[in-house]
Amino acid sequence: SFTINRKNLCSNHPFFTPIKSPSVHFATAHSSLAEMIFDGHLSFENTEHTAKDFGGRYHFMPSAVLYPKSVSDISSVVKNIFQMGETTELTVGARGHGHSLEGQAQAHRGVVINMESLREPEMSFHTGIMPYVDVSAGELWINILHKSLKHGLAPKSWTDYLHLTVGGTLSNAGISGQAFEHGPQIDNVYQLQVVTGTGEVVICSEEQHSDLFHAVLGGLGQFGIITRARIALEPAPKKVKWIRALYSDFTIFSKDQERLIASDNSFNYIEGFVIINRTGLLDNWRSSFSSKDPIQANQFTSEGRVLFCLEVAKYFNLEESDHIDKDIDNLLSDLNYIQSTLFLSEVSYVDFLDRVHVSELKLQEKGLWEVPHPWLNLLIPRSSVHLFAQEVFGNILSDTSNGPVLIYPVNKSRWKNGTSMVTPAENVFYLIAFLSSAIPSSTGKDGLEHILTQHQRILNFCGRSNLGIKQYLPHYRTQEEWKAHFGTFWEVFSKRKSIYDPLAILAPGQRIFQKRR
Ligand code: FAD
Repeated sequence: SFTINRKNLCSNHPFFTPIKSPSVHFATAHSSLAEMIFDGHLSFENTEHTAKDFGGRYHFMPSAVLYPKSVSDISSVVKNIFQMGETTELTVGARGHGHSLEGQAQAHRGVVINMESLREPEMSFHTGIMPYVDVSAGELWINILHKSLKHGLAPKSWTDYLHLTVGGTLSNAGISGQAFEHGPQIDNVYQLQVVTGTGEVVICSEEQHSDLFHAVLGGLGQFGIITRARIALEPAPKKVKWIRALYSDFTIFSKDQERLIASDNSFNYIEGFVIINRTGLLDNWRSSFSSKDPIQANQFTSEGRVLFCLEVAKYFNLEESDHIDKDIDNLLSDLNYIQSTLFLSEVSYVDFLDRVHVSELKLQEKGLWEVPHPWLNLLIPRSSVHLFAQEVFGNILSDTSNGPVLIYPVNKSRWKNGTSMVTPAENVFYLIAFLSSAIPSSTGKDGLEHILTQHQRILNFCGRSNLGIKQYLPHYRTQEEWKAHFGTFWEVFSKRKSIYDPLAILAPGQRIFQKRR
């Protein structure tokens, strides 16, 4: 519910330099596209929705939107623009579910491809020792979950929220509480079909065109449009024990988290979050969790405190019901949380994985879902995380009322090498995610300006103190900043760009490269 002003969309954005004689080239390029015949269709009207995203802060209007029905629709539009060469400013942005935060799936005056229209191939399952599913890249993870469960299977690695497309998360990484064991989603893909920036359709995997395969995974859409993915599956559990417990000491909390991710016999999901100065915290949990020690829990107060919540889950099937509680007690017995704050819940596997959607529905009802989301996602090396916690949770943030602050470690030594995702130099690093919502037009502590200022203070502190962090779901305004983000990997990244998308047609919303003109 925000208005888009076509004139001011991005004319003052530093990335977009004025173009030479736009009207002549623009008209030619347009008519060339308009003459094309597609299995789906190309629309020059009603394109406004593609100039919005979950972040709610960037609005770049495209020229046209392609609703593809086949891979060849996508390939021919990219090929056509590639063949126009440097005479056109046209770019192509693949749009998954549009849940980017800073316009990454938008294409200013370009063509947006609505990936959810691509329904081919039909989801097809392969059972056996290494089960997998072939899916269209515009498919939502929630649909893959439901269909896989019919075969008793499920993907291994998830995001916290499942109403995102395969192409959208594989372009970043796809990190959640399973990543400590299975790696991010980009580590759980066997094969991709990709349309490169020249319009070529390529099947790639570890064995076939492996450089393109690695480039595209975590590649921020820069090297190709993923049209199909082969996703690794595992037998799906039926039920989940979902557990929360609080800590007041960061050192004890992080030690326990690190011990859990290092163990071979651990929980199936390990995350955590920070709570600063919240009232009635445990009362809120009671609607979905049961306290292990209700009397002691009643005495506990969260007000005014900085607390760290360990959130873990153990999967199980009904035939394991008789020993699952004992297994969990064993795992918990090594941990040093505040005993009175242990809360447990038992839910179905689907309800556990789709848990954020429940919050989405509640927020939608209150009109609080479609608000600006100034999020900051950081990857912090283990050696810096204590300093970070001390300054950020002890000083910069005075409360966590603007949205959840997630914190959990992963160990990269269990991840695959060679994707385009950049991480801190150490094997163990923490994902710390400030998932803020801003109240539109508020000038107070819940307003956009205040939240952005706080995030900038956090980034400034990380820079000043040389913490060696990397941003996840990164967003920068200049190529110099991107170079710093990629560090020594920039050379490989930019070389791959010149091979797979030499005119820089793809994913202009990431603002890494500018279309060659
Ligand atoms: P879009 O926003 O549509 O696109 C994202 C980028 O990928 C764009 O640059 C776009 O051009 C490109 N792209 C899209 N489709 C393709 C394709 N087929 N081929 C090539 N490039 C493509 N991330 C996590 O890792 N873990 C989480 O737990 C997590 N939780 C989230 C919770 C919520 C509520 C939200 C809104 C986001 C969350 N994210 C999480 C971030 C999310 O993974 C990314 O924002 C993701 O890109 C969104 O997917 P999408 O389908 O909406 O992609």
